Amino acid sequence: MTATDNALPTEPHVMNTYGRLPIALSHGRGCWVWDTQGRKYLDGLGGIAVNTLGHAHPKLVPALQDQIAKLIHSSNYYHVPLQEQLAAKLTELSGLTNAFFCSTGLEANEAAIKIARKYGHDKGIDTPEIIVYEKAFHGRSIATLSATGNPKVQAGFGPLVEGFIRVPLNDLAAVEEVARTRPNVVAVFLEVIQGEGGINPARVDYLKSLRRLCDERGWLLMLDEVQCGIGRTGKWFAHQWADIKPDVMPLAKGLGSGVPVGAVVCGPKAAHVFGPGNHGTTFGGNPLAMRAGVETLRLMEEENLLENAARVGGLLRAGLERELEGVEGFVEIRGQGLMLGIELDRPCGDLLRIACENGLLLSVTADRVVRLVPSLILSAEEAAQIVAILCPLIKRFLADTPKP
Ligand SMILES: *Cc1c(COP(=O)(O)O)cnc(C)c1O
Repeated sequence: MTATDNALPTEPHVMNTYGRLPIALSHGRGCWVWDTQGRKYLDGLGGIAVNTLGHAHPKLVPALQDQIAKLIHSSNYYHVPLQEQLAAKLTELSGLTNAFFCSTGLEANEAAIKIARKYGHDKGIDTPEIIVYEKAFHGRSIATLSATGNPKVQAGFGPLVEGFIRVPLNDLAAVEEVARTRPNVVAVFLEVIQGEGGINPARVDYLKSLRRLCDERGWLLMLDEVQCGIGRTGKWFAHQWADIKPDVMPLAKGLGSGVPVGAVVCGPKAAHVFGPGNHGTTFGGNPLAMRAGVETLRLMEEENLLENAARVGGLLRAGLERELEGVEGFVEIRGQGLMLGIELDRPCGDLLRIACENGLLLSVTADRVVRLVPSLILSAEEAAQIVAILCPLIKRFLADTPKP
């Protein structure tokens, strides 16, 4: 380790856009990471639902090394056979038909929004509107932050993009009212489980009703599975718990196990809306990204990670519930599989730092929700360790922090 490795991180040249904790991670293995001071952490965050296979996976690493040595990037001027390979796998797993590749979640959502608008224009609707949700998060580009239902994300960036109509989650009457009064609606756009908004699941019956309404009205059902997709809930995609299919499904986060990979996967109603020249990206679908996606999905199958996410997620949830039941200030646990939120009755942003100081990485979202989105390789023993570290910290925090 060099002297610079050991120095406390300061960054006078990086733009100040994140409130960061005063550590820097140097390497990881499985669900464990080490910082530049040599301290070890149990990773309950997984890079925010990104590190599907954990860190330094012994089969992913050589596959990526092999790809880097062959071809990192070529350009979409040419065919990229790995794109077809990943698209074929994603359509097989989802029952949809075609994929477009990009690099991030917001790009996948931008593509979805463009598809919805063009779908409208193709039907002769010149000012198409998209139904979006309170507490939604779709990204930080101007269009996706306009679709986002969080005033903090939007503050300072107006004028926002028009053409979004906002409704509360799980309120079918609100969507039916929009259907009655707004003739230019072309799509409904939501996260199956809201992530940044505090781990708020759309109910199964609500999703089924939206599917029916979209079919009746000729709307696109667009499900943002950027955070809840790729096995996290115990199914490949969270909407599969409702036994429905979307028309448009943006993906990113976990798809490349840490390599930036985004995709928008479409069914027959939406798959042919874009033609040559309608959409594109320089980096999207490059061979390194595609190899990361292909290998991530292959290793998830080989290691039964859907089953693991469901089983270990269930154990984690049960352990947290057992320890927190009846604790003053604990509200409830929401989510599914390895996407869990622990809601408290007061702001708890400080738990991020407290947990970190106690060797556990996690996040706090929507002010009062402790979020766990670890790698899908998490073991039952590691889940028990999360419970053993986290629950005493939450109890002490609640005892020491008055409700405002
Ligand atoms: C993280 C996230 C995004 C944005 O993804 P980026 O890769 O940060 O652009 C969009 N939608 C959801 C549901 C997310 O969780």
